[in-house]
Amino acid sequence: MNVPKRRARFSGSTVLHCILALVAVAGLLPAADADLILRNGKIVTVDKSFTIQQAVAVKGGKISAVGSDASILQERGPNTRVIDLNGKTLLPGLVDSHVHAVEAGLSEFRGPLPPLNSFAAIRAYVSQQAAKTPKGEWIVVPRTFPTRLTELQMPTREFLDFEQDHPVLFDASYVLILNSAGLRKCGITRDSLSPTGGEIGKDKKGEPTGVLKNAPSLIVGLDRTAHFTEAEKLDALEQQLKRYVAAGLTSVGDRAVNPEQIDLYQKLKAAGRLPLRVVMTWRPDASLPVGTLQQQIQSAPYTTNTGDSWLKFGTFKLTLDGGMTIGTAYQRYPYGAFGKQLYGKTDPDDRGQLFIPPAKLLAIMGTARDRGWQLTTHDQGGGAVDNFLDTLEQLDREKPIGPTRSHLMHASFQSPEAIARMKKMGILADVQAPWLYLDGAALEQVFGYEGMKYFYPLRTYIDSGIIVAAGSDHMIGHDRNNAVNPYNPFLSMWTEITRLTNQGKVIHPEQKITRAEALRTHTVWPAYLQFAEKERGSIEVGKLADLVAIDRDYLTCPEAQIKDIQPVMVIIDGKIVSPAK
Ligand SMILES: [Zn+2]
Repeated sequence: MNVPKRRARFSGSTVLHCILALVAVAGLLPAADADLILRNGKIVTVDKSFTIQQAVAVKGGKISAVGSDASILQERGPNTRVIDLNGKTLLPGLVDSHVHAVEAGLSEFRGPLPPLNSFAAIRAYVSQQAAKTPKGEWIVVPRTFPTRLTELQMPTREFLDFEQDHPVLFDASYVLILNSAGLRKCGITRDSLSPTGGEIGKDKKGEPTGVLKNAPSLIVGLDRTAHFTEAEKLDALEQQLKRYVAAGLTSVGDRAVNPEQIDLYQKLKAAGRLPLRVVMTWRPDASLPVGTLQQQIQSAPYTTNTGDSWLKFGTFKLTLDGGMTIGTAYQRYPYGAFGKQLYGKTDPDDRGQLFIPPAKLLAIMGTARDRGWQLTTHDQGGGAVDNFLDTLEQLDREKPIGPTRSHLMHASFQSPEAIARMKKMGILADVQAPWLYLDGAALEQVFGYEGMKYFYPLRTYIDSGIIVAAGSDHMIGHDRNNAVNPYNPFLSMWTEITRLTNQGKVIHPEQKITRAEALRTHTVWPAYLQFAEKERGSIEVGKLADLVAIDRDYLTCPEAQIKDIQPVMVIIDGKIVSPAK
């Protein structure tokens, strides 16, 4: 690192230099005096032509110049800090378009969660908790998906009945499995009725199986966040956002905030504790009646782009179907024989769950569109994708939907027909490569290799001109590589480039994308989705100085190493924020 040198500039004897010196004395430094210069690097600008440069200058939190060392050093003034990158690669600050930061931050706030990757591990965890939990109180098995258990099988009530003295809840997100004590605690019997949009699983004799699909309201006596004070929630959120920064992220999309979470973000920002830029997706409760939801949308004091470059609102979201890791994603065809084992299904024709009927979806989305919102739904299965595209087409007939930059979220199971509809309307894709990495192998057993042909089809999207924003869907756990789901952006890019699963199999190599394209999915393209492409996403003059220096060359290092790339310096708004001082 160089010590900033006072330049010879003000010692000149020309009239011009005298004037400049006077201006400097008066405290009005010439515009060329950068706050920070990063030189002797490989600056991957991710501009339109993917230009590589050598140096970059920052002033007032923005990029003031990009070019060769010689030209950028012209920007050096008496107060400029100059950093020698020693040939290191500098990327635009990375974006994760899809996280759940509050939930993730709280998940290990009180202590680390064990890796639950088998029935034996689940059993050991529950027994350990039982020893320190008063009888009759809940034991919750933290979020675990059957696709990530070595048995490749959903735990059953019978399995969880090894624990008799405590109600046990196995959390598989939209699906919950209870043991018999759990069913008793919630008062769920053969006579219980399923709630709207949800389902109490029952066997042939009509007895509850312990499986609850999309029915968390039935759980009695368990409030999983109530024991955190507001101060703890703020701490947990701030710490998680700092972990994102350390991973090389300079902005994230939080993809399902409610009024309490909006409040937490606003408080962090007001206290100067927001470590990176956040774009919030508002997700109201889709099970409410249409009129109530429409009233909420109309009276909410925010819509897309309300806020500033640090914290703003992005998208209006409804959850349209369940998850593919738990067999509730609404598919175009049934889950088949292996789905029975993996997800504990009893009905061979089961295609998953669609939570919102088309007429309701159209009414709510129409109101949100009229209020100025960008629209999305959680749509994992192909059936849900087709449903949401139907809605978007109806709205598009009234007024082109393209300018709202509305998008499919997940859209894990695609089809050429659906992609053609997206292209026609200008619909974007919000994708998560970690699902392919962690679940690809199990899902291939359910759907077959052909059935995985359009599983996260990034090559087809890009060739069709569809903008692809990439993220992780990080929801549980703190570690960037071991969380559910891992939020290491280099793991995500590596998966997009290789299509490799954690079992070492390449899933449809024809859908691979290039390193340059993968970098765009974590920079300019999510910035575009967030209506922020004019202010960030690339290293260009006038954009915000959000930058990340990395320990090896992303563009030329061996492919296997891409996922192991480590950020060595993260800059946000022109300030070095990681490593923390
Ligand atoms: Zn999500």
